[in-house]
Amino acid sequence: MKIHHLTAAEALESLGSSLNGLDDAVIEGRLREFGFNRLEETRKTSALLLFAREFLHFFALILWLAAGLAFFAEAQQPGEGMQTLGYAILGVIAINGCFSFWQRHQAEQAIAALQKLLPHQVKVIRDGELSLVYADELAPGDLLVLQEGDNVPADCRLVEALALRVNNATITGESLPKGRDAQPSDAEDIGQSRNILLAGTSVVAGEGKAVVFATGMHTEFGKIANTLKTTVKAQSPLQKQIARLSHFVALLALALGVAFFFIGQAIGLTFWENFIFAIGLIVANVPEGLLPTVTLSLAMATQRMAKRNALIRNLPSVETLGSTTVICTDKTGTLTENRMAVKQLFLDGHYCNPDQLGRHSLQQHAAFLGCAALCHNLKRIEGNAPLGDPMEIALADMAHARGMRIDYPKIGEVPFDTDRKRMSTLHDTPAGTMLFCKGALEMVLPLCRQIAAGNRIETLDDGHRQQLAKALQTMADQGLRVLALAYRPLPEEIPDNPEQSLILAGLVGLEDPPRPEVAAAIGQCHRAGIKVIMVTGDHPHTAVAIARQIGLVRSEHPKVIVGDKLKKLTPSQLQVALDADEIVFARVGADQKMQIVEALQRKQHIVAVTGDGVNDAPALKKADIGIAMGKAGTDVAKEAADMILLDDNFASIVAAIEEGRAVFDNIRKFLTYILTSNIPEVVPYLAFVLFKIPLPLTIIQILAVDLGTDMLPALGLGAEKPDAAVMEQMPRSQKETLIDWRLLARAYGFLGLLEAVAAMAAFFFVLDRGGWEYGQILHGRQPLYLQATTACLSAIIMMQIANVFICKQRQRGLLGTALLDNKLILSGILLEIALILAIVYTPWGNALFGAAPIGGEVWLFTLPFVAGMLALEELRKWLVRRFKLFPLRAEPARLRKSGRTRTGR
Ligand code: ATP
Repeated sequence: MKIHHLTAAEALESLGSSLNGLDDAVIEGRLREFGFNRLEETRKTSALLLFAREFLHFFALILWLAAGLAFFAEAQQPGEGMQTLGYAILGVIAINGCFSFWQRHQAEQAIAALQKLLPHQVKVIRDGELSLVYADELAPGDLLVLQEGDNVPADCRLVEALALRVNNATITGESLPKGRDAQPSDAEDIGQSRNILLAGTSVVAGEGKAVVFATGMHTEFGKIANTLKTTVKAQSPLQKQIARLSHFVALLALALGVAFFFIGQAIGLTFWENFIFAIGLIVANVPEGLLPTVTLSLAMATQRMAKRNALIRNLPSVETLGSTTVICTDKTGTLTENRMAVKQLFLDGHYCNPDQLGRHSLQQHAAFLGCAALCHNLKRIEGNAPLGDPMEIALADMAHARGMRIDYPKIGEVPFDTDRKRMSTLHDTPAGTMLFCKGALEMVLPLCRQIAAGNRIETLDDGHRQQLAKALQTMADQGLRVLALAYRPLPEEIPDNPEQSLILAGLVGLEDPPRPEVAAAIGQCHRAGIKVIMVTGDHPHTAVAIARQIGLVRSEHPKVIVGDKLKKLTPSQLQVALDADEIVFARVGADQKMQIVEALQRKQHIVAVTGDGVNDAPALKKADIGIAMGKAGTDVAKEAADMILLDDNFASIVAAIEEGRAVFDNIRKFLTYILTSNIPEVVPYLAFVLFKIPLPLTIIQILAVDLGTDMLPALGLGAEKPDAAVMEQMPRSQKETLIDWRLLARAYGFLGLLEAVAAMAAFFFVLDRGGWEYGQILHGRQPLYLQATTACLSAIIMMQIANVFICKQRQRGLLGTALLDNKLILSGILLEIALILAIVYTPWGNALFGAAPIGGEVWLFTLPFVAGMLALEELRKWLVRRFKLFPLRAEPARLRKSGRTRTGR
């Protein structure tokens, strides 16, 4: 007989388990025998293959071709320097391949490290006690405790179930939840059996206990995973943009190479000179390293985000975060601390605080306190604080503190959901079966017929109702979360709908203070042009009071839309309503969150939305950025989310947005940096062609810059920390491309030209001192020529060192910039200096790069050019700031005044 055919007791016994779970002593042996509960990656691409790939992609092939041509040319026409070029290109391929491999490896490591930050824990009963263990330490025979929102971590057989429903979509594809119970089944197929829960599925309602019978690769999911190919990782839009750009630039380089070849031919240069130059130009400009650098800077951003408690689940989200225009946030736990304490009670028509509820009045308020003590879903783990909703903990604590220490067994439950906004539990008590109900007053009151008044029970009348409504408002206006508690003794024959004819026991006002960091984070959002909308299930008055405390609402009359009203709004009415500056949605259900997200998206907003429950999953998926709570969130919500907040804190969302914005800026910084040096590389050749001077910069020297000295500082720019100014601008439109005319004008038309002037000046400075006269032909190996090209190269590198600092900021001056805060940049510069010194002053450097030692006067000669570039760039930045020239993004305030919304999704 298969396990689903057995009774619950037989199933437990067959696995050597019981309702007390496994003994701790057994676990180790079982794990040794059955292995850890993990899916092994079956077809991991070997590191060797990945390494080999770095040498065989599109750009590498162009380089191989170029190297082949160089060696071929050497064979045809020995002594023209082709061989050196061939070797140089091979060197380029090797350096590039290794660097890209290292970058990819770093990026993968960074992403893999993130996974470990949020280990999956599950509740099990072991040795008769409830405990939390890592999901991969589960063994067959373990007794799992599952509840709404939990992912099922292994294949298991239910032994107890209360209104349990599962979503099997991951296994069977059917997305409608299915009811499950603990009865033996006569189904043939284990997957069809009502008492089986499969790993990878999730519990969407109810609760239960189940005994594990298969783990890891032995589960049904493991068997499917076994046949699956390794998943193809999608590229982010930014990566795609870079890939497209790289291909375009590579083609451009090819075209330039060919064009220069023919220009050379036309003006009578030798075939081989032209040939070398064409190949060199192509090699120098093929942007093979760009994509890995972008990937690495995205990955490094995810690490910085993780340090700030935001865990990114997929790379594209990093960019989307940067263009977020609206955050729809829950209140409880995200804006507030979710540290609940009972502050005020409303009993018998009077306010009191819980301390005033003396032990002498215990009898009088027994039902009220009994409801607080019993109506919950808390799990008690020996020696630890109870596990569950902090509000329920606060209520149970209050009852305990007043001496109400009862633990009557729960025999049934009408579960909480955000639409019903109440829950009820049924208990066997010495006085018979009792129902305890708690929830929002407007959801509980209609079920009540009577009200407790001291020792008496009165019929509920309009006077009571008005009194209760007023009390609710008074407490909510102080920011308290108000719950109504009610109860009812049940007849022996429990009715189908037991939630009726209740007796209202009283109201509880719970305090949940705002998180201290939140007010500042909201302020930051305002300055950054990000709208923050509170979407809460709580009462509108509580919501507005809290919103006011954190600065989310500042006006006298913010727009407050409650769930009932939201239901009646047409899509266009909702869209219009969303134009209000300050909006709070209160008493909304999870499905309504979706409605709000969709309306915002129709308004071209990029929407981030938070959520924690099972019902939030669709909205989390629909949003541009779904954000789940790491602590209070269910597994289902986490799975649907793009980002997980490790500390559940709103301020961490804002920190992540800041990092997301910085990534884009950083990529621009390093693009500006590497594009700049193209001009001083091309201008010498143009001068050589147009003015018939000796060639100021050889191909090998160009390669030394592009693939040697420029690399690490560029990577450093990609890892810059976010600048304070990134949160002072409007969000970036998703249409905004990485490279635009501003960037090109600055890199090519300004910085590049200045570098070219310095490089040419250094070249002529050496020639002039060596007595060269215009028209005189210099041989390629003549010391004067070698020194002159070395001066040209050195000048470019000196200018590029200054340029790193320039590229750190687009608008702010050097004085306001932290220049030494980025270790990667500093080590990049040190390497740059070491490389140029090695090229200039070592015999092998000279031999390899066609260089010769230059005197100190050449360096001194270049210094004013460096200073000049720094000064002119300062002037440019000052002019841009002073006259607000070509603003990249509008300032938030201006944009809001003109009433424009974002476009460009
Ligand atoms: P937020 O949506 O900001 O997290 P919330 O926690 O108040 O706020 P919901 O969880 O949707 O939102 O709860 C809605 C209402 O349902 C609460 O204001 C409360 O009145 C009631 N409620 C919440 N949790 C429970 C519970 N465990 N038992 C009974 N009623 C509850």
